[in-house]
Amino acid sequence: MEYIKYLSTLTTYEPQLRLLIDLIPEFIVLKDGYSRWLVTNKLVLNSYGMEDDFPYIGKTDLELAEIFPAHRHNFIFNMETDKAAWENGEAIQIEKSFQTPDGITRTWEVIKTPVFDKNSNKSHLIIVSREITERKKAEESLKVSESNYRFIAENMKDILITVNHKGIIKYLSPSFEKITGYSYKDYINREIAKLIEYIHPNQYRPIKKAFKELVLGKENHNIFEYQFLKRDGQYIWLEANVNTIYNENGDFEKLVLVARDIIQRKHFQSQLETLAYYDYLTNIPNRRYFMEKLSSEISRANDTNQLLALMYLDIDYFKNINDKLGHHIGDMLLVMLTRRIQNILRDTDILARIGGDEFAIILSNLSSSTEAQIIGERIAKKLQEPWYIEGHTFQTTSSIGIACYFKDGTSPQTLVCNADKALYKAKENGRAQVKFYS
Ligand code: GH3
Ligand code: MG
Repeated sequence: MEYIKYLSTLTTYEPQLRLLIDLIPEFIVLKDGYSRWLVTNKLVLNSYGMEDDFPYIGKTDLELAEIFPAHRHNFIFNMETDKAAWENGEAIQIEKSFQTPDGITRTWEVIKTPVFDKNSNKSHLIIVSREITERKKAEESLKVSESNYRFIAENMKDILITVNHKGIIKYLSPSFEKITGYSYKDYINREIAKLIEYIHPNQYRPIKKAFKELVLGKENHNIFEYQFLKRDGQYIWLEANVNTIYNENGDFEKLVLVARDIIQRKHFQSQLETLAYYDYLTNIPNRRYFMEKLSSEISRANDTNQLLALMYLDIDYFKNINDKLGHHIGDMLLVMLTRRIQNILRDTDILARIGGDEFAIILSNLSSSTEAQIIGERIAKKLQEPWYIEGHTFQTTSSIGIACYFKDGTSPQTLVCNADKALYKAKENGRAQVKFYS
């Protein structure tokens, strides 16, 4: 039930974010820890023949396979590879070739990144996929003819680098110059180490080590994501695919590295998380974020033997505001009420909007339950001060229910349930008051 409620909040995406995600030329799907679809873009919807407003949220690939039987093999592929990504525990990369309706065999690269929460529970799965037919062709022709390959390489948007067994750069594509600002000719016949030095200190060491292993033949393929210092002093995000090429005798011949700018993807990954974890109207955490945070805050309170209080707050007669002043003023009130509460809370407290006019607050590290009572009353009082919104002056009251860890429950579910019961009591008792669970 909680989940369904949460899903309904997801359907009200900020339209601008929606548009941004639809503009990205990569196929993107965000799934939850149970591999249910949460967010995707138009490119994906179109590729499965789904209408733009198809209600995919909360569905599994198995359910989608039943609705779109023509794509069944793709959904089955998704399920198998999701499983592989969860089992692997970190990003996996898969290549998949199939014939598109135009009769051309195209190749796709799929990267699945599983994300776990602090308690190592499955949190969400980020899937990014793109067509790499062009790159594949370049790799193929590498085997066929050097000149053919050179032609494609010179015209590729991705950066192509080949490195010999001594770690010397033998080929660097002109696109390197366009992306980084450095003259590509300056680096040909130089050590690859010279380029590795531009990698951000956060990623430098592990990448240098992994490169060594590739040159020594301990590994024959790797993918790196890193920030690379450009000539103008800014960092860009690149993703490099590195493959080792052996000659007919099986001896190491060269490394082929294809790097591309992934700033857009990095940007969209964070946008996706914003969509999944924040409330679009008030910009504060949503129910999903709150439930995850509550679990981790409870375990922290347990470890450190500290007091924690969960507060549920609901505006009294909020429907009247909508009815009398309009939905827009109602929305503005929700935003301004959020700001007032934030002004009272400490930085470590967590405020979330968990539904319509309902908010939850986690107060951690309390000295006593009286402190929760004082904060609750301060909030209730502050929210009774007049509102001035677009020429309207009016007052509202709010009701608050409080449950304390561990007195009123030790699991997130019990605490939520008891804070909700306390809120119900406050409403029943005439509203505009703070009630503890009893
Ligand atoms: P009560 O005192 O019992 O809390 O009564 P209430 O009128 O506040 O009603 P209730 O809390 O049950 O319902 C909240 C209402 O909030 C329902 C819905 O019309 C309205 N609402 C939900 N989400 C939004 C929103 O995003 N914007 C606006 N303006 N109104 C919303
Ligand atoms: Mg209400």
